[in-house]
Amino acid sequence: MARQRKCRVCGGWHDLSEPWPYECAAHYAPRPQATSSLPCPKVIGSFSEPVKSMADGKYYSNANDLRRTYKASGNPQGVEYNEVGNEDITTFTPPKKDRQANRAAIERAIADVDAGRAPPVLDRLPT
Ligand SMILES: [Zn+2]
Repeated sequence: MARQRKCRVCGGWHDLSEPWPYECAAHYAPRPQATSSLPCPKVIGSFSEPVKSMADGKYYSNANDLRRTYKASGNPQGVEYNEVGNEDITTFTPPKKDRQANRAAIERAIADVDAGRAPPVLDRLPT
């Protein structure tokens, strides 16, 4: 099967092994530059605003440049840093709840209030 290309002029498919039809030559004409009032491509950056590298104190808008400063070769300290927030969560174990200790703390607090050792109620904000 011969390779074909969809024509932007007539909407049909033209065989690339044959000369392009003369009446469809506008297929190769330059496209209109602006199709909207915002004549620029939509660019999505790594960050919505520049992020400060804690390794060298400079601001970066590119994630690759920022991560380069975390390498020992990319910061003035020559120290390898770990980016916090991208740890492996598959090994995460949630902390154990000690319901007995919680209950004891609550009972101590209730006993303190019952014995009159409650903190004073604030009737105005501390200055
Ligand atoms: Zn055509």
